[in-house]
Amino acid sequence: GRCFYFDETTSTNAFMLGHAAELKSGDICIAEYQSAGRGRRGRQWLSPYGHHIYASMFWRLNGDISQASGLSLVIGCSIAKTLSNFGVQGLGLKWPNDIYLDHKKLAGILVEISHCTDQQTELVLGFGINMSMSAEQGELIDQPWSDLSSLMSMPDKTELLIKLHKTLKADLQLFEQKGLEVFLDRWNEFDLFVNRDVTLLMAPNSVSGIYRGIDEQGALILETEQGVKRYLGGEISLRSA
Ligand code: ATP
Repeated sequence: GRCFYFDETTSTNAFMLGHAAELKSGDICIAEYQSAGRGRRGRQWLSPYGHHIYASMFWRLNGDISQASGLSLVIGCSIAKTLSNFGVQGLGLKWPNDIYLDHKKLAGILVEISHCTDQQTELVLGFGINMSMSAEQGELIDQPWSDLSSLMSMPDKTELLIKLHKTLKADLQLFEQKGLEVFLDRWNEFDLFVNRDVTLLMAPNSVSGIYRGIDEQGALILETEQGVKRYLGGEISLRSA
């Protein structure tokens, strides 16, 4: 595989999306700084200099777009496992795409579709992880955030990136062969808000209930007064009540 390394770029996802035709599964793009780091629905991922991780991996899945459902959960599991192997404790996953440390946002995942047909789906799998963020840098983030600086021993960034890349590739292969089911135990180990009152924001609506985890497709299970409902798809933000 290839690694595209930038001191600065607009967004590693944008770079990969722009070069998809030349890419192979497992190719990765890494930047030290993103001038236009992206979150979901046009939100921003704050991406200052400072040895933070901004990376995107390209992946081609066999099958149509429905095969990609639950993929952001797999990536979350993959990153959480890798970080915990580096001794990080207090990790949590928030459906569908966020990684928390001590209940504050540590990392984000952004899955974007580059191209899809009935036979094949090309994806760009982006992730950002805060390594050691200064208070001034973090001031611009509009929700509680965390980084890895409070750890006893901070992982070496290159070593962490190599492990993340390796684990992600292996987990994606496993996902292609066996589906989401083999990741459910791992997801449950890290899942935040299970059995808690939550609100799902789906602009312009919202719905409240008790969060009961996920099903085999990666859908969120919500127990509401009108019965159990399932939600699949990315345009939803979960909030604890
Ligand atoms: P939310 O995290 O609010 O539930 P979301 O999952 O849709 O929503 P993302 O698209 O994953 O959010 O990430 C964008 C949001 O993450 C921003 O709106 C901001 O609140 C927060 N954010 C941006 N940059 C960082 C960062 N470096 N570290 C932690 N959080 C960040």
